[in-house]
Amino acid sequence: MLKFEHVSKKYKGGKTAVSNLNLEFKKGEFIVFIGPSGCGKTTTMKMINRLIEPTEGKIFINGEDIMEKDPVKLRREIGYVIQQIGLFPHMTIQENISLVLKLLKWPEEKRKSRAEELLSLVDMTPDYLERYPHELSGGQQQRIGVLRALAADQPLILMDEPFGALDPITRDALQDEFKNLQKKLDKTIVFVTHDMDEALKLADRIVILRDGQLVQCGTPDEILREPADEFVEEFIGKERLVQAKPNITTVEQIMNAHPVTITSDEQLSNAITVMKTNRVDSLLVIDQEGVLEGYIDVEAIDQNRKKAKDVADILIPDTFSVYKDALVRDTIRQILKKGLKYVPVVDEQRHLVGIVTRTSLVDIVYDSIWGDEELESAQ
Ligand code: ADP
Ligand code: MG
Repeated sequence: MLKFEHVSKKYKGGKTAVSNLNLEFKKGEFIVFIGPSGCGKTTTMKMINRLIEPTEGKIFINGEDIMEKDPVKLRREIGYVIQQIGLFPHMTIQENISLVLKLLKWPEEKRKSRAEELLSLVDMTPDYLERYPHELSGGQQQRIGVLRALAADQPLILMDEPFGALDPITRDALQDEFKNLQKKLDKTIVFVTHDMDEALKLADRIVILRDGQLVQCGTPDEILREPADEFVEEFIGKERLVQAKPNITTVEQIMNAHPVTITSDEQLSNAITVMKTNRVDSLLVIDQEGVLEGYIDVEAIDQNRKKAKDVADILIPDTFSVYKDALVRDTIRQILKKGLKYVPVVDEQRHLVGIVTRTSLVDIVYDSIWGDEELESAQ
């Protein structure tokens, strides 16, 4: 339904805002353009309704080259929600919602019933129709902005950071609401954001831009599983990779494969040096074959400094450990239940192969996996 063919935009003055964009979207897709500020998102979006015209390439809507259409007519066939809240303060909510309908010369009665119908979609009562924007909360105003875009029932809707100005809770609620609405109404949406959470939540397909160039286009799942490059990875954030990447399930995939260790035949003085150099207060102890024997820590060293000479003398054996293919989820649970600071990871022969620390892991994934409720009961 929407197609970009070698589309570029070079502004007067020489800035190339969009460079050779090739994309194709189906009817009913929720498409999210994402990228850092200045990467060309707004430019791309405005080229779709010809508020900006491409310097090269073509854009097709339902097979029609948009440059061959009348721009005013084109714009009326496309819903548009902009970054700012953008309600007209001197117009009532009904007038705001039915602005486009008025332009399209819908009769008054029909405009009113359409506005009522739309309000009910977001669970707002008809009495809001007579109010003015300043009488509504920020979230409600933004809902009206969204409804205004839906009013004329255009099949294609452009939304440029529509929820950017909202507080996180309102934004979250509106995202859910809007996603449901989109499914129900079967609209094609082109949505711009710089917030990856928002993109992952809403999009059927995400288009990642950098410096006007396409970096990656794929479903949220594809992007999480196989980020095209480091830029995308960074944009997704390592934290999210851990929680959302469905193929990260075992401890081996997230452990630190270079734990600080010492062998049990070493002298304690060496152990102290190793601790100091690595800034750790505990060392995993292994034998010559790399099999985990236990651990030593600063406390044990302190208490036995006089009589002990070797690591073996103060070794605390039977350290709790997990197998490398243990589930991340279970391991976090154990770390929390036992109040551990870290867990050594071993293979089937108990060779030490890594370490998972509480700070590196729990802090990162905890909230998102279980939320606050279980945090309390687990502690
Ligand atoms: P985004 O929406 O991703 O933040 P924009 O599409 O607004 O990015 O801008 C892309 C690039 O084009 C930026 O470097 C911006 O400064 C530049 N740009 C945007 N509009 C104009 C303009 N009218 N004239 C010149 N340069 C512009
Ligand atoms: Mg922008």
